[in-house]
Amino acid sequence: MTQQNTPDNDATNLADPNTDQSRQGSASQQLPREHHQHHHEHHHDHSHLDDTALRVRSLETLLTQKGYIEPEALNVLIDTYENKVGPRNGAKVIAKAWTNDRYRQWLLSDATAAIASLDFSGRQGEHMVVVENTAQVHNMVVCTLCSCYPWPVLGLPPTWYKSAPYRSRVVIDPASVLAEFGVTLEPHKKITVWDSTAEVRYLVLPERPANSEHLTEEQLAALVTRDAMIGTGLPLDSSLVSL
Ligand code: FE
Repeated sequence: MTQQNTPDNDATNLADPNTDQSRQGSASQQLPREHHQHHHEHHHDHSHLDDTALRVRSLETLLTQKGYIEPEALNVLIDTYENKVGPRNGAKVIAKAWTNDRYRQWLLSDATAAIASLDFSGRQGEHMVVVENTAQVHNMVVCTLCSCYPWPVLGLPPTWYKSAPYRSRVVIDPASVLAEFGVTLEPHKKITVWDSTAEVRYLVLPERPANSEHLTEEQLAALVTRDAMIGTGLPLDSSLVSL
């Protein structure tokens, strides 16, 4: 789509690789070895991507000129899948894990099956792995080579997820990337970065917000943001749920 190269406003500094390099802190990277050999057998290497983008743009222009589509309506559609429908699925998974410990255990041991049990399955979600944030560890997800992303639970990836600055910088200095998203962790927390591949798509299970014991599963789901499940954000404060 035409928005492909526009950085999202919530991560504009990602375009500047020299921003805030001082915040290295306790961040560490634990990229499993297979990341560097990761098999991208899916059909979006860069030459194809450029070709596809061109074709999509031509089609969009043609359809607009013929009056078949409204560019505005298209943007609303994309926004719906990027920000609304998709991540709400993931939020239900997270809220269930927060309220049902057996489900949480299942999710951590076999995420694909546990997620499919809620009817969220399909392309780009065949092999899911859920990584749990704890008092000691904060997890972040990236695809360093392209844009692998768990569609069934998160919808379409946001523009910044596909951007070269995010993909490279989150590996080198995750704490400064987090800071640009407005997240500051306790200094003792270790950051683990997971590199998605064609085979494995990661989803972050954030820590349950404090003072949320009285909330229902549905109310808890409302606190789970898309970014919290990528690891570039945290769940919303429990006081934001109106009772
Ligand atoms: Fe990828």
